[in-house]
Amino acid sequence: MQKILVSACLLGERVRYHGGDAACGHPVLRRWLEEGRLVAVCPERDGGLPTPRPPAELVGIVVRTAAGVDVTEAFRRGAQTALDVAKANGIRIAILKDGSPSCASSFVYDGTFSGTRTAGKGVTATLLEANGVRVFNEHSIDAANQYVRGLEETP
Ligand code: SF4
Repeated sequence: MQKILVSACLLGERVRYHGGDAACGHPVLRRWLEEGRLVAVCPERDGGLPTPRPPAELVGIVVRTAAGVDVTEAFRRGAQTALDVAKANGIRIAILKDGSPSCASSFVYDGTFSGTRTAGKGVTATLLEANGVRVFNEHSIDAANQYVRGLEETP
């Protein structure tokens, strides 16, 4: 059985920067949870940042708060922890929250703290994909489900 890495906030853990969650009620995610497939990580918490914490955005490869504090190192630590967890569990697929400077797989905010989206990936998603973990988000769970089935049908 394929295990699946998942953003803790999508499972309802209140670990987002504002102290809330991003609970996702997709039935496939719920089924995977019941099957014991899901392994939750929160790279920002795991990298040592508090909750709540100031919002941060990517500027190139650097992550900064609106006040200009460079938090890149904590984001990198959290990404490495997520990769270590994936490797320890033989994980080849992740469902991570889109739009996050850690977890995004399709868009991020552009570093101006104006709510402007731009195509891009978060620090953790980038590291996982560079190491062979396929990253999906909360809007592509059906595609992820197909991918999991494909992996499990391959001898
Ligand atoms: Fe959710 Fe990822 Fe942000 Fe943690 S770092 S709160 S798991 S989006």
